[in-house]
Amino acid sequence: MGAGPYGLSVAAHALAAGLEARVFGQPMRAWEWHMPRGMLLKSEPDASHLGDPDRRYGLDAFRRYSYGEPIPLETFVAYGKWFREQTVRDALDESTVTEIGTEGGLYTVALSSGARVRARTVVLALGFLPFAYRPTALAELPPEVSSHSSDHHDLSAFAGKHVAVLGAGQSALETATLLVEAGAKPRIVARTRSLVWNATPSGQRSIISRTLAPRSGLGSGWRSLVWAEMPGTVRYLPKGARNHIVRTTLGPAGSWWLRERFDGAVPVTLGVRLAGADHRGGVRLHLTTGQGKVETLETEHVIAATGYQVDVGRIDILDPNVRRRIRSAGPTPRLSRTFETPMTGLYLVGLAAAATFGPAMRFVHGCDFAARRVTRGLVSQVRKSA
Ligand SMILES: Cc1cc2nc3c(=O)[nH]c(=O)nc-3n(C[C@H](O)[C@H](O)[C@H](O)COP(=O)(O)OP(=O)(O)OC[C@H]3O[C@@H](n4cnc5c(N)ncnc54)[C@H](O)[C@@H]3O)c2cc1C
Repeated sequence: MGAGPYGLSVAAHALAAGLEARVFGQPMRAWEWHMPRGMLLKSEPDASHLGDPDRRYGLDAFRRYSYGEPIPLETFVAYGKWFREQTVRDALDESTVTEIGTEGGLYTVALSSGARVRARTVVLALGFLPFAYRPTALAELPPEVSSHSSDHHDLSAFAGKHVAVLGAGQSALETATLLVEAGAKPRIVARTRSLVWNATPSGQRSIISRTLAPRSGLGSGWRSLVWAEMPGTVRYLPKGARNHIVRTTLGPAGSWWLRERFDGAVPVTLGVRLAGADHRGGVRLHLTTGQGKVETLETEHVIAATGYQVDVGRIDILDPNVRRRIRSAGPTPRLSRTFETPMTGLYLVGLAAAATFGPAMRFVHGCDFAARRVTRGLVSQVRKSA
């Protein structure tokens, strides 16, 4: 379910393994419509490959980029669609999944086309959209003046408007920069006291630097290398350690290539907490400063670029019984070695698997690992029930 990088990669592996697999959803929809036009990928080209068993259809088979060269969003979307053509072809059905239930030992999948499909196994590859985190302080504002960063693709509608962008991660900083470039007047509002920017990658590195800080799909350093290249090891760590790794690896920071466009163009209000908001003509954000004072910021629109919080209870296409079963072990259940949830035959990949397999699952880099493991699980399940 879901035809983003993870769903397409799982389908590519499953079909190549001879399984009767189908993938549902519009290819690369979240990237095409829920990320801002003009965005550049933060991940390096070598960490942006979708997964197929023979590694024939990596990004570089579509277009070559060198290390440190940012990939435009539009190119990545085109790459995902090309990958689909090469690997999944007509096993893809563009319908939206409206409900997943169970009946007679099988899963039943209802589609927006009106069709119903029965399946022995289901892989949820729904990505980040179900988990968009909106601060409760904004709950009373109407959608015309308050939105989440994932609600937008075309920022030109904000031209001439004052927009407060909440957050200090790449999404917040890039959205604010693109807003300026679209003729809007954004301001970053964040809890952090100072913004963090990633260092410019150096082309030639000495042997010492390469030994002390080897490069990996999640950046430089030995820790990143382990989380990036051995996500299976993360699963064996205690829950507290896994949560710590997911929380602290690659925290909020802007890309080096964005800084020049951001500095001097986007005003910032840092070191404040959002205490509340109201809407009388314009939007008023009530911000608590470090000294405990409450200040009011007036704006015309507020965009929460506040990221994503996984809770499998929010996957609303699962019927309540299925949802209850997989939520029984908490909002981020520990998955099996093959990404199976507490419910036999129901698998979960992508962001929702990060609590088990670590930070690689938050990025495209993790999709080949996930697709290989899931396919192993699917094959053994099909063999068992044959
Ligand atoms: C602004 C932004 C920038 C990012 N930049 C990078 C980056 O540079 N590099 C990187 O590695 N990662 C980046 N990420 C993280 C990125 O989201 C993940 O790496 C990647 O999208 C994971 O793929 P996925 O298939 O799990 O999820 P998604 O890409 O979200 O795909 C899931 C798909 O499921 C579909 N879907 C959901 N519900 C249904 C349904 N009911 N029926 C049918 N289909 C459904 C969605 O439409 C979507 O297309 C970024 C994330 C954001 C928000």
